[in-house]
Amino acid sequence: MSPPHILGRFAPSPTGPLHAGSLVAALASWLDAKAQHGQWGVRMEDVDTTRCLPGMAELILQQLAACGLHSDLPVWHQSARSTAYQTALTSLTERQLAYPCACSRSDIAQALRHIGQAKPRHGELVYPGTCRQGLHGKPARAWRLRTDVDMSNWPVALINKAQAAMLNEVSNACVMTPNSSSLAPLGTLGTLPPLAAVQWLDRRLGWQSQDVAHEVGDFILKRADGCFAYQLAVVVDDAAQGITDVVRGADLADNTARQIMLQRALGLPTPRYLHTPLVLGPDGHKLSKQNGAQALNTTHPLAALNAAARVLGLAAASGAVADALGQWVTQWRGQWL
Ligand SMILES: [Zn+2]
Repeated sequence: MSPPHILGRFAPSPTGPLHAGSLVAALASWLDAKAQHGQWGVRMEDVDTTRCLPGMAELILQQLAACGLHSDLPVWHQSARSTAYQTALTSLTERQLAYPCACSRSDIAQALRHIGQAKPRHGELVYPGTCRQGLHGKPARAWRLRTDVDMSNWPVALINKAQAAMLNEVSNACVMTPNSSSLAPLGTLGTLPPLAAVQWLDRRLGWQSQDVAHEVGDFILKRADGCFAYQLAVVVDDAAQGITDVVRGADLADNTARQIMLQRALGLPTPRYLHTPLVLGPDGHKLSKQNGAQALNTTHPLAALNAAARVLGLAAASGAVADALGQWVTQWRGQWL
């Protein structure tokens, strides 16, 4: 019997060096793959080339290598994947699941004021669906996914038998609550049909639910500046690479319902998800470059790894880096598998 092919990934943005917070996600995803006798890959989320800094991808790989974390696969670069993202967007558009949008931010704010829903979510405005009915001669700025479609019975592609067994458990978790019909007539502003919530199971956080249509709205797949959006790129790449387990920081948990919705729309598999605790900065928010995270010091890799392990609830390890990683693999297996 061949073991199931497990593939995990760590997906940093090469906009700055790794810091203590990003090492937690890197270590957790590596441990999870290794604890399942699987492989682990690094994916550079450099889809937004304007934000990437030259040399940063190489620096991140050096930092990972210093911590004993080596990609088992060739490093994947989103910047080389535009054709695949466009193919996915075209497929969605042809099936009327995606549409062009001409709205600027102020157009959206104005439309929301009209229907008395001006409250932003995480600073983002919930798109009210203005352009579902067409552009009325205005130029397309961005492309959006229709979120008012019931996808609960749509088939999901499976990678292999092991994935099928695993997904069976999860896809039961990924059902959406019943919606009125599949592709309802184009919604009128403010009178959307009953909306579907995406429910999914996180291995640490438990059951999660999000009514994407109400809480997020039709979200962007391709931005006004021509860049493909993070959500689309991640979903297309997770499927293209055959990722079975997504292990990443809890700040990204909020994206998962959108990504599951996109997987459904594209007929792609849903991986398992585990969102790790975050390292907080001095301001109480997730540690990031914006709130002064220092670049990871890999002069003493074991110290950096022990700090990351502590966040993950793993016991301190000593000895060589490889020995420490081995101890944590065993602990991880006991804790999460
Ligand atoms: Zn619009």
